[in-house]
Amino acid sequence: MLVDLAQSNREEIDAQSLLRISQQLNSTLDTDLLLDSLIVGALQLVGAESGCSGLRTPGGMVCRRYFQSGTVLALEYCWPPGHGLPGWLIEHKVPYLTNDALSDTQIVHELCKQFGVWSALSTPILGADEEVLGFFEVHNKKDGAGFTRADQDKLMAVSHSAAIAIQNAIAYRKIKQTEEALRKSERELSRANSVLRRANADLEQFAYSASHDLQEPIRNISIYGEILAHRYRQSLDAKGMEYLSFIAEGARRMEMLVKDLLAYAQSANFEDMPADTADTGAALERALSNLSMAIGESNAKVTCGKLPDVRVPELHLQHLFQNLIGNAIKYRKEEEPPRIQISAGRNGEYWLFSVCDNGIGIPTEYKEQVFGMFKRLHGNGKYSGTGIGLAICQKVVERHGGRIWVESGGPGQGSIFHFTLPAGAGE
Ligand code: ADP
Repeated sequence: MLVDLAQSNREEIDAQSLLRISQQLNSTLDTDLLLDSLIVGALQLVGAESGCSGLRTPGGMVCRRYFQSGTVLALEYCWPPGHGLPGWLIEHKVPYLTNDALSDTQIVHELCKQFGVWSALSTPILGADEEVLGFFEVHNKKDGAGFTRADQDKLMAVSHSAAIAIQNAIAYRKIKQTEEALRKSERELSRANSVLRRANADLEQFAYSASHDLQEPIRNISIYGEILAHRYRQSLDAKGMEYLSFIAEGARRMEMLVKDLLAYAQSANFEDMPADTADTGAALERALSNLSMAIGESNAKVTCGKLPDVRVPELHLQHLFQNLIGNAIKYRKEEEPPRIQISAGRNGEYWLFSVCDNGIGIPTEYKEQVFGMFKRLHGNGKYSGTGIGLAICQKVVERHGGRIWVESGGPGQGSIFHFTLPAGAGE
C-alpha cells in the first residue's frame, strides 16, 4: 500500500512537470528560447546534470548552447547524419540511451571528455510526417544511476509537446520571413516606381519643351513656304513648284506630330485640373475653331444636337472633341466629304456623348486596340499621326470615372465613338 502511494505520488508529480514543460514550450514562438526551455525542462524531469538541444538543418543536427549545472556554455556544433547520437537519430528516429559513454562507439568521445559525460539519453523530435525536426540530449543523472526506460518514456512525452511547439515556431518564423521579404520587395517596388515617375516626368518635360519650341520654326516653314509659292508661282517651273509642295506637306505633317506630342506632354497635368462644370458648347466651339483649316480643306460637315454640360474641366472636353472630330476628318473616305454628327443622351449619373462619322471605319478586331498608346491601324503614309490621341482620350475619360469605346460596321462603314462623363451639378 505504501509503495503504491509513493508510486502514484511520483506519477502525479511527473504529470504536473510534463504539463508545466508543455505550457512553457507553447508560450514562445522563438525557436532559440524554445530549445532552451526544452532542455531545462528535460534536465529537471529526469534529474540530469547537463545536456543540449538543437534543430535539424540540411547539414545535420545543430546545437548552439550546452547547459551544465545551471550554467550555459557556447557550443557551436553540427552532427551530420550518422555522426554522434544526434546524427544517429536522424536515420533511426528513436531515442538512443547509453550508460557507458566511454565504451560506446556511437557517441562523440571528444565531446564526452570536454563535458565529462559518462551516460547519455538522446531523444528525437518528430514532426507530423515523422520527419526529424530536432533533438535534445541529457547527460549524467545527478543520483549517479544510469538513465532508465522510464526516463526515456518521459522524455518522449516531452518530445511530442516540443514537436508541436517547434512546428508552430518554424511556421511563425517562415511567416515573419515572408512578411519581411514582402516588405523588402514593396520597398524596392516603391523605389523603382519613384525612379520611373522621375523618368516619366523628365520625359514629359522634354516632350513639352521640344514640342513647344518646335511649333514656331515649323509654323515659319509652312508660312514662308506658302509666301514663296505665292510670290514665285509665275517664275518657278513645275519641279520648283513640286519641291515647294513637298516642303508644305512636310511642314503639315510635322505640325500634326508636334501637336500630338504637346497634347501628350500636357496630358500629364490633366490630373491636377479642378473638375468645374464645363460649358460643353464652348468646349466644342474651341475644338472646331482649332480644326477650322482641316474642316475647310475637307469640306467636312459637323452637326450636333443639344449638348448638356458635364462636371469635368473644359479643356478635357475640348480635347476629346478635338481628337475625335479631327480623327473623323482624317480617316475620311476619298469619295465623299466627312459627315460628322455629335449627340448626347443620359446614362444614369453620366452623359453619353457620341461622335459618328461616315469615314473608312474600323474592323471589329481592332476596336479595342485603337485606344492603346502608339497603336495605329491606318499607319501608312497616307494618314500621318502618332497613335497617342485616343490613348489620351481614354486616360481623360477614365480619370472622370467614364468609359470610351467605338462601334463600327467594319471597313468603309464609318465609326461611332462613344464616351461617358459625369453629369454637372443639378442636372
Ligand atoms: P493617330 O490618329 O495619331 O494615329 P489615334 O490614337 O487618334 O492616333 O488613333 C489610333 C488609330 O485609330 C488611328 O491610327 C486609326 O487607325 C484609328 N482611328 C481613329 N479614329 C478613327 C476613325 N474615326 N475612323 C477610322 N479609324 C480611326
